[in-house]
Amino acid sequence: MLSEETAIEIWEQVREQLKVEAGNTVFENWLSLLNLNSYANGKIVISVQSRFHKDWIEPRYGNRLKTLWLSHNKKIKNVSLVVDESLSNRVYKKNITEESAILSFSSPLDVSYTFEKFVVGPSNNFVAAAAQRISDSDEVSFNPLVIYGGVGLGKTHLMHAIAWRIKSNNPKRKVVYLSAEKFMYQFVRALREQDTMGFKEQFRSADVLMIDDVQFIAGKNSTQEEFFHTFNALVDQSKQIIVSSDRSPADLEGIEERLRSRLGWGIVAEIHQTTYELRLGILQSKVADIKNCEIPKNVLEFLAHKITSNIRELEGALKRLVAHSQLVGRPVSLDSAYDVLHDLIRANNRKVTIEEIQRKVAEHFSIRLSDMSSARRARAVARPRQIAMYLSKQLTSRSLPEIGRTFGGRDHTTVMHAVSRIESLILEDSSVADDLELLKRNLDN
Ligand code: ADP
Ligand code: MG
Repeated sequence: MLSEETAIEIWEQVREQLKVEAGNTVFENWLSLLNLNSYANGKIVISVQSRFHKDWIEPRYGNRLKTLWLSHNKKIKNVSLVVDESLSNRVYKKNITEESAILSFSSPLDVSYTFEKFVVGPSNNFVAAAAQRISDSDEVSFNPLVIYGGVGLGKTHLMHAIAWRIKSNNPKRKVVYLSAEKFMYQFVRALREQDTMGFKEQFRSADVLMIDDVQFIAGKNSTQEEFFHTFNALVDQSKQIIVSSDRSPADLEGIEERLRSRLGWGIVAEIHQTTYELRLGILQSKVADIKNCEIPKNVLEFLAHKITSNIRELEGALKRLVAHSQLVGRPVSLDSAYDVLHDLIRANNRKVTIEEIQRKVAEHFSIRLSDMSSARRARAVARPRQIAMYLSKQLTSRSLPEIGRTFGGRDHTTVMHAVSRIESLILEDSSVADDLELLKRNLDN
């Protein structure tokens, strides 16, 4: 299994090799646009911003990309190149100007993530006010600002909004925004190139340092240590620090006590789960940007009512509706919304438990419930058990280790194996696919 660190490190090396082989010009114009998108189950996905780029890169460098990845890790199953159009919305800082190389450490900012496009409601007004306050004053009034909340609730959007606002208020201030993942990877690279001094200087000359998804460095001790020192150095010079996390500092496991306590020094602001009114407000603001497609009010209300998990899903649902309507050439209606989004709506309704899944699966295959946690390995019980693990992963939000524990104290790797086994069986064996379909429907009611 490829860990995050290894994947990032390999990617960094592959990029370096490509740069040497292709030369600087080709690299800068084309290959530097490639992004490591995901690395699950030995499948590497590399993304690029447009079809045009993909069509140029794939025939020329597609195979080479694969070979290079494989040369670093034999377990890699495949390397694919996909188009991720969201990348093209971003502003690239490709040319490192005299503004100093520090900006090359920053991640690109999404042009649509501004305060103007951030809809405020009861769940996020405190955090939005803190963010505005920080952006509009040159003085540091509280340090750091920690923004925390679940996925898809607007943390990254707000971070980018702060960065844009500070830059426009005062173009001289050096704003460095990057994900904790990228922070780590820059650090690893500095270690390899024996240039940690350079690394430190780059960060420490920032006026505003923003680190997104800081939970990522939990448990990664040397990165954490480096972050802690950077943090202190900047705070000592009265520079602003802004951090986001998917949970509160108090709940971050694997973070050293001293760093945790530092994070609590300033303002810790939570983005709460959305309310119906906020969801509707967000939909209305997004709809205003959509051209050539009318969306009736009752459809927006329906979406705001049904898709409650997070804003990213809500946006995704809206995009899907629009895409579908343009594809089939029919206007969006309540009926089409039901049709096109039934899986999403189901996922948002569903609160299935692992126990329920085990019971239904056992019934379906006529085995004993106790076999879900027994050590028996006969096919007749092992396969249903794998199916139940797969469904638990799909239908609940429980982690792999938690699922493993519920199945007789099995290891999380066993669950992972079961999931990938069933995933491939679905493709090979239609009876498995049918069983799953039936079970899912059954679990819905
Ligand atoms: P997070 O970083 O918390 O996972 P993001 O900032 O990536 O979430 O937000 C997910 C999507 O939802 C983005 O497209 C973002 O623009 C949108 N979004 C989140 N909150 C709001 C909001 N209050 N108003 C408008 N759009 C929002
Ligand atoms: Mg984010």
